[in-house]
Amino acid sequence: MSNNRHPQDAAFLPTAKPPTWLGVMGGGQLGRMFAHAAQAMGFKVAVLEPAADCPAGQVAERLINAGYGDSAALGQLSALCAAVTTEFENVPADSMNLLAQDSFVAPNGACVSIAQDRVLEKRFFVECAPRSGVLPAPHKVIASIEDIEAIGDELLPGILKTVRMGYDGKGQVRVASRADVRAAFAAMNGVACLLEKMLPLAYEISVLTARGHDGASVVYPIAENVHRDGILFTTTVPGPNVSASCAQRAQDAARAIVDRLGYVGVLCIEFFVLTDGSLVVNEMAPRPHNSGHYTIDACLTSQFAQQVRAMARLPLGDVRQHSPAVMLNILGDVWFEGDTVREPAWDRVLALPGAFLHLYGKDDPRRGRKMGHVNFVAPTLEAAQRQLQAACAILGIAP
Ligand code: ATP
Ligand code: MG
Repeated sequence: MSNNRHPQDAAFLPTAKPPTWLGVMGGGQLGRMFAHAAQAMGFKVAVLEPAADCPAGQVAERLINAGYGDSAALGQLSALCAAVTTEFENVPADSMNLLAQDSFVAPNGACVSIAQDRVLEKRFFVECAPRSGVLPAPHKVIASIEDIEAIGDELLPGILKTVRMGYDGKGQVRVASRADVRAAFAAMNGVACLLEKMLPLAYEISVLTARGHDGASVVYPIAENVHRDGILFTTTVPGPNVSASCAQRAQDAARAIVDRLGYVGVLCIEFFVLTDGSLVVNEMAPRPHNSGHYTIDACLTSQFAQQVRAMARLPLGDVRQHSPAVMLNILGDVWFEGDTVREPAWDRVLALPGAFLHLYGKDDPRRGRKMGHVNFVAPTLEAAQRQLQAACAILGIAP
């Protein structure tokens, strides 16, 4: 910057208006859908990503092919863009800090580093508890063999999770005894882990929020999530199990958390609802989230359009949901018929009223790989759920 105004000091910054450039760290599907939303508003999009062919690179006006820590490439991105965001939570926080010397960065490196580290994240949630009213699961850091000996019985059975880099249930092992913890810790090559008590879940919800640079925040309707094999399977909104009181507690908790973080941008917070009705905060993603994809077709402002608004310091958009919705993740599995790989019958899926197909431009379907999603919107939740069942039958997905 040529003057003394720091780029993070949003009070001094003009709104980023189209047709200026917005930047995104990462070239995956979240970056692709972010680019679609930004371009719809007239912005140009630059993506920084090491892979030459990537979902976001296929649609962005510019792809900077470089590692996420490449300082020349980061300089190029921040020189070009009025604001930069990230589409994946494991972006190096140092890179976000470097970008912040020249561009407005949302979310900032400090927020990203908390969300990347399960220990910092849990500590942060505990600090928030007096205001948020929710605690994380009981847990203990396991960084050495001695830590395993010191585990209290109340934490077992539990789940051992790597402190960093976990996603889609990867880097997690269920453990019933101290011996199991020893074996699992050894299998993770001794990287720092967190042991979490296994809780009796009734169901899982996520709360998608966005906060502007001026401190205004919005909370989307509460989404209910079903996972299969550790990967999100469906998101249903409104959540069939979510009571009005649960929704209120989750919304209040989410607002307290984003405010305390001083967060700017879209943030998704996952909660567990236990069999006794209590709420436990699990983790947060500092970006749009898979469970927020339903917003594209069911809300006035999609989570991606909201990210654009927040980072450009434009007014946040209306989060009202206009139709009940179910989102079905499409994994590479549906391309396989036995050993044969063929294109799924999208024509039949799209014949279902209210079905919206989103594919991410990945040409190599693999089992367990997220290839796209379908949103089903309908006048009633039951009708959307019927369309989901029909699509599962067409695609050979067990309902
Ligand atoms: P993702 O990035 O896909 O959200 P992740 O790999 O970061 O997942 P978590 O969200 O912590 O990991 O856990 C994955 C799933 O495991 C949860 O959605 C939940 O179903 C189950 N789970 C995690 N922690 C607990 C717990 N303490 N008690 C019971 N179930 C749990
Ligand atoms: Mg999770």
